[in-house]
Amino acid sequence: MDVDYIIVGAGSSGSVLASRLSEGARVVVLEAGGSDLLPYVQLPLGYGKLFYDPAVNWMYATEPDPGLAGNRDHWPRGKLLGGSSSINAMVYIRGHKADYDEWGAAAPGWGWGDVLPAFRAMEDNEAGADDFRGKGGPLFISRNRKGLHWLVEDYIAACGEAGLAYNPDFNGAEQEGAGTYQMTIKGGRRNSAARAFLRPAMKRCQVITRAQVTRVIFEGKRAVGVEYLRDGELQTLRAREVILSGGAINTPQLLQLSGIGPAEVLSRAGIPVLVDNPHVGRNLSDHQGINYTWEMKVATYNGILRPWWGKAFVGLQYLLTRGGPLAKSINHGGGFFRTSADEPRPNMQLYFQAFSTLIPRNGERPLLTPDPFQGVSIGLSNCRPTSRGTIEIASPDPMRHPKITANAFSTEKDVAEMLLAVKYLRTIAAQPSFARWVKQELRPGPEVQSDEAMIQDFRERSGTVYHPSCTARMGREGESVVDEHLRVRGVEGLRVCDASAFPNLIAGNTNAPALLMGWRGAEVIRG
Ligand SMILES: Cc1cc2nc3c(=O)[nH]c(=O)nc-3n(C[C@H](O)[C@H](O)[C@H](O)COP(=O)(O)OP(=O)(O)OC[C@H]3O[C@@H](n4cnc5c(N)ncnc54)[C@H](O)[C@@H]3O)c2cc1C
Repeated sequence: MDVDYIIVGAGSSGSVLASRLSEGARVVVLEAGGSDLLPYVQLPLGYGKLFYDPAVNWMYATEPDPGLAGNRDHWPRGKLLGGSSSINAMVYIRGHKADYDEWGAAAPGWGWGDVLPAFRAMEDNEAGADDFRGKGGPLFISRNRKGLHWLVEDYIAACGEAGLAYNPDFNGAEQEGAGTYQMTIKGGRRNSAARAFLRPAMKRCQVITRAQVTRVIFEGKRAVGVEYLRDGELQTLRAREVILSGGAINTPQLLQLSGIGPAEVLSRAGIPVLVDNPHVGRNLSDHQGINYTWEMKVATYNGILRPWWGKAFVGLQYLLTRGGPLAKSINHGGGFFRTSADEPRPNMQLYFQAFSTLIPRNGERPLLTPDPFQGVSIGLSNCRPTSRGTIEIASPDPMRHPKITANAFSTEKDVAEMLLAVKYLRTIAAQPSFARWVKQELRPGPEVQSDEAMIQDFRERSGTVYHPSCTARMGREGESVVDEHLRVRGVEGLRVCDASAFPNLIAGNTNAPALLMGWRGAEVIRG
């Protein structure tokens, strides 16, 4: 064997895993993308420029989705060191503790009591340590309290007037409420998994970039290495164990290309079946989100980010102080709420953005050139959707994108709760603290009032909030792809450690649980 572990993918989970496993073993990381040392990766608000950039992004498109009025959704995924943590919006949310109790019920060792110590050990919270937060770990997390747009306070006040109380810490004792998001931003720069975990570990593990793994090599049913493409040449690398950390789309694709998956999907694609497991690429879970946008009577970030002189000002401010709007995510404020008192825990997430981007620009999400009027958006996304999609290879060619069928809003429950949620958005906006600054609702606009019109609107305008998960999920035999030790069922020497292995989608953004997967995964693998 050439090495102990091959890790496929240097994303959120893979970076943490590489950092921890290389403390006592020979580790090689194979990453399909290149370096993360690029200006728009490092600059927090720069990530709008990466949305449609094939140099750092896999640029997936879903199949036309009936639940989204027939639209094909754009699914960016990071293709560079740090993976999607190098192109994401940097919001740091762990999820609800009950989400992890569900994980623990499906996979012993992954319950809240097991993951809380792991989160605390991994974190270096600016706010300091307490029963929930950690201090002194490798991952700096900013409190994000300074330099916020003043409208954030009025947004939080309006939530209070609408019955959603202020919550100082969504990662603390209680998730519900309105407040500001903690961020994976350090010193005004993106704090990706590459920056926090992989780069400091590069002295002790080998990272090969621009190396796309094309299949796992088996001897009988034992994984002994991988085949990968680099500079147009097919190469092989052997190891004691192979760990797939390619993310929720690429990991099931690679399993299927290697003969592990639903037999009918593999046969259709001309791949010999090694293990017939119908769960590979199934159970795709993702949050769907939508923005409501208002024109305001007061200055928002549109006024400073759009004109050339404003760009020069915020650019200088960033260079001199590492502060200002460029040093932040778009989501200054947020929240979690229930659409009905019967819900046992929050089932909707809020995002407050002190600017608006209704007018598209070619090849980018126009975060750095927002609309030519003063606008703000409040967005929301569901926390525990019941709709499920699939990832299926359509060809034996590893360079061809797999077929992504999202099936968004394909259950009545998901439609009904989103309808209640968008109504609540308008309730928040109608409260005095917010309404006094509003000139008019721009999107969807006051003419959209009936239930039918509101449903039609969110079907037409919703899309992924970039949290696909669970496509090679961990769980009980007969219901899963990997066991609680992350071992792929039916073979030896092969594990999965990334968002595809989540037993269930958590309530919130998925970078923190993906980092946790790497941290706790290393403990499980070493154990
Ligand atoms: C635009 C966007 C915004 C987001 N915003 C937030 C946010 O604000 N907060 C939050 O918590 N989450 C956010 N997320 C989600 C979060 O970043 C992801 O859930 C998380 O990074 C997933 O981690 P992962 O390890 O599963 O996969 P990834 O981080 O995507 O890593 C997979 C890695 O594997 C590599 N790879 C794949 N296939 C191969 C192969 N065959 N060979 C070699 N390498 C391969 C990829 O190039 C990539 O580097 C966002 C995601 C996106 C895309």
